[in-house]
Formats: sequence, C-alpha cells, structure tokens
Amino acid sequence: FVRRSHSAVDSYFERMLVREDEALRASRSIGASKGFPQHEVSPLQGSFLKLLAETAGAKRILEIGTLAGYSTIWFARVEGIERVVTLELEPERAAVARENLARASLDHLVDCRVGPALDSLQAMTEEDPFDFVFIDADKQNNPAYLTHALRLAAPGSLILADNVVRDGAVVDDASDDPRVRGVRDMATIVANEPTLDATALQTVGKKGWDGFMLMRVK
Ligand code: SAM
Repeated sequence: FVRRSHSAVDSYFERMLVREDEALRASRSIGASKGFPQHEVSPLQGSFLKLLAETAGAKRILEIGTLAGYSTIWFARVEGIERVVTLELEPERAAVARENLARASLDHLVDCRVGPALDSLQAMTEEDPFDFVFIDADKQNNPAYLTHALRLAAPGSLILADNVVRDGAVVDDASDDPRVRGVRDMATIVANEPTLDATALQTVGKKGWDGFMLMRVK
C-alpha cells in the first residue's frame, strides 16, 4: 500500500532529485531549534529557485526575507553567482543565517542586511542592478517590494514572489487579511505595468497549497 499525498510526493522527489547537503539540512534544523517559524521554501522549491536563477544566468540576486538562510544558501550556490544581498528584519535570524552561510563556506558571496526591508531598499541608491529578485518577507509589503524591485532590476531580470495563493484566499476580493491584500495589490501593479511579463504557478506539497508569481522585466 502506497500512501498518496502531496507530502509523500514531495518526499519521493526530494529523495530522488534534491542534493540537500549537511549545510542546507543544518540551516533548516538550527532555525527550528531556535524556535524560528519554519517558513523556508521546501527542498524541491529551493532546488527550483537555484535552477531558475541559473537558467537566467543570474549574477546578482536580491532576496527579501532571509530567515535562517535556507533559500539564501540555494541562491549562493547558483553557478556563476557574484553577489547575493539578503534582507532580514530580525537580528537573531540574520545572525543565525550568517552562521549557516559561513558553515556552508558561502559567507563571502552574501551580504545580509538587518532591519525593515523597506529601509534597506530605500537605502539602495548606488547599488549595481540585480538580475533576480526573490520577494519572501511580510506579504503586506509586497506592492512596495515589487516597486523597489522594478527600480533595482535590470531589463531581462526575473522577479519571483512566494506565497501568492495562500490556500486559495487570493481570490477573495473582500479579504481583510493584509497578506492577501498585499498579494492582490501586487497583482494590480503587475496588471498595469507594461514592462512586466508575468505568470503565477500554483504549488502543492509539504508547504500546503500556495504558489509563486514569476515576473520578467522587459
Ligand atoms: N526566504 C526564506 C527561506 O526560504 O529560507 C524564508 C523567509 S520567511 C518566509 C520571511 C522572513 O522575512 C522572516 O524571517 C521574517 O523575519 C522576515 N521579515 C518579516 N518582515 C520583514 C521586514 N519588514 N523586513 C525584512 N524582513 C522581514
């Protein structure tokens, strides 16, 4: 008897496809042991992000929302990567992420900036353009994060926002959940932004029913 479930399928493909080493495993387990929320991308999603950034030839990646650095490690392992800038509100999480990156011998590639991401983004006035932006922090600020991403991303860049489906709540136009409103307001920006090509992909798996919004700056 094979128990079929989204989680079981994730586990199967993780075993078959994902090369999650000790550094990646440690970044998940140390975050959990510190009581951080287990909101990191799944191993299959981390591998997907790395493949996508590699396919796009990303050299400079901006990540909004670090947590313990799990997705950051995937990004820092993109072939040909030159710099990952990752933004985290909580000093303790940023400190743990830095330790995790050092354990993975990737700390020389990553600049982890602590504080509200909106402040860090506003301070980025002299920054070289990014070619991949991952939006994965407080969802109510997604519209502002997208606006900054458009300012900081070079033509041809990819912008990917996580958790845009939220168990289907995204279709509720009367929702007063600020995270749902954040996704919907971001979608409205995309709908009116002629420089963006975009799509959304629903996902199921260990992280439940959710999805990515993928955008490309023309
Ligand atoms: N990208 C991470 C991964 O996949 O491993 C997960 C990031 S987690 C979903 C979101 C993170 O964003 C949390 O660590 C949270 O502390 C951080 N965050 C929340 N509000 C923020 C803000 N205003 N500025 C910067 N970071 C924020």
